[in-house]
Amino acid sequence: MRRVVIVGYGMAGARLADELRRRDQDISITVVGAEPHAAYNRVLLSTVVAGTMTPESTRLHDEKWAEEHRVDLRLGWEVLEVDRTARTVVVGRAGGDPAPAIPYDALVLATGSVPWVPPAEGLTEDGRFAPGVVAFRTLDDCAQIEAKAGKGMPVAVLGGGLLGIEAARGLAGRGCLVTVVHPVGHLMERQLDPGAGGVLARTLGKLGIEFRLNSMATKYLPGDGLILDDGTHVPAELVVVSAGVRAETSLAVRAGLTVDRGIVVDDALRTSDPRIHAIGDCAQHPGTVSGLVQPAWDQAAVLADRLTGTDPSARYRGTSVVTRLKARDVDLAALGEVHTDVDCPDSEVLCFQEPSRGRYAKLVLRDDRVTGAIVLGAPDAAATITQLYDRGIPAPTDRLALLLGRALPAEAASPADLPSSAVICRCNTVSKGQIVSAWRAGAESLPQLAEATRATTGCGGCKDAVCGLLDWLGASQPAPA
Ligand SMILES: Cc1cc2nc3c(=O)[nH]c(=O)nc-3n(C[C@H](O)[C@H](O)[C@H](O)COP(=O)(O)OP(=O)(O)OC[C@H]3O[C@@H](n4cnc5c(N)ncnc54)[C@H](O)[C@@H]3O)c2cc1C
Repeated sequence: MRRVVIVGYGMAGARLADELRRRDQDISITVVGAEPHAAYNRVLLSTVVAGTMTPESTRLHDEKWAEEHRVDLRLGWEVLEVDRTARTVVVGRAGGDPAPAIPYDALVLATGSVPWVPPAEGLTEDGRFAPGVVAFRTLDDCAQIEAKAGKGMPVAVLGGGLLGIEAARGLAGRGCLVTVVHPVGHLMERQLDPGAGGVLARTLGKLGIEFRLNSMATKYLPGDGLILDDGTHVPAELVVVSAGVRAETSLAVRAGLTVDRGIVVDDALRTSDPRIHAIGDCAQHPGTVSGLVQPAWDQAAVLADRLTGTDPSARYRGTSVVTRLKARDVDLAALGEVHTDVDCPDSEVLCFQEPSRGRYAKLVLRDDRVTGAIVLGAPDAAATITQLYDRGIPAPTDRLALLLGRALPAEAASPADLPSSAVICRCNTVSKGQIVSAWRAGAESLPQLAEATRATTGCGGCKDAVCGLLDWLGASQPAPA
């Protein structure tokens, strides 16, 4: 019997354990997770900060999961060292003595990432955050934010990327007076061009959030706030650090594996030691933007195929990702090439903006196909454009109507017309065909479909589409093809 040891019980590690057990009832699975909680959906933490979801409802596994799936789960344990010659890992509880070593045939590093902390004086003391400073990465961070953030309290968020904005929106929703400090001239610069970043800032400004762009914090004064590089002061009784992440590679470095920005892996998700694999945020694969859940879950499926022998030739070739902002009252999707200029000679680029109504839409096409888009404040357009992008089919000739969300292509107008290959749940790469098959096999409610296909269990953004399919399936007699 093969022994697989998974380091990290986060979104990638938990998914891999599930995928392994689905394929193989006998394989020995050990999961070592440093956090004290059962695996949870980190993507939903902004809804916990916003107070719209409880910590419990983000859980990926219930208490009985490990026993029912015969997984040796070490919660609150850490892998301290890897002995590659003996093929064992040394584990221990934080601050405790090491326990007996655990042998492996295959070791999988799913150690995720850790917050990057800007070099402002006073933010940390002896390697820990100073009082009044908290990261935004874990359930424990959320508990701290919830405990501290009160109505009317000035709060500074360091970082105007996706997570910083989600944190800021959640805190503003709780009645805090939020200022976002961002070192770049516009928000979410990885996913947005300056025009879209400007409209987003304006929309969020109307919701009470202030921005200090092109600014860096140089000093933290506990209980008082931040001093910025231009000498100005941002009042803050709480500082939330959400300035980016870096892959957690310390264990891999100590084990002598090849590490660059992350743990370097090939298409078989092997590190420089073929018995050790890496998936999720900690892994660096050439075709992947790391730091998102969809690549992590795609990688878990490929690796499970390989480790169980279900498909030893399975390869991970990268994931095309769509980024969605999960902030109440703001609909934003960004995909593919977003930084192509309107005058780029190789591409057709359309751009529309209506800042006063919070709308911005940019569409990048090549050979009639969507290769990139930013859609802010126009959810209908976002849904259609995402479908076109996923499927690589030609865009309708009336581009303007498409951009404004008024031209649903015939194929996307009704679930019946979607092709079987259309991706409905992006986080889990679930197609319409898989949903129809699961429904035919008896999964006739949303929870049953979620259980059978995993659709809706990521960011939850596809729930309406899945419900639409369920309605259509329920109304179709006989069952559709
Ligand atoms: C607030 C927030 C919102 C997000 N929103 C989105 C989103 O909308 N869309 C999206 O695609 N992605 C989003 N992400 C990113 C997404 O959550 C990550 O891409 C995903 O969690 C990666 O999974 P992972 O298992 O690689 O890492 P993690 O989920 O971070 O899990 C890694 C785990 O490994 C543990 N670990 C580390 N070292 C050891 C060790 N030596 N021994 C034992 N355990 C160890 C850690 O404690 C942790 O529990 C968001 C992240 C955050 C924080």
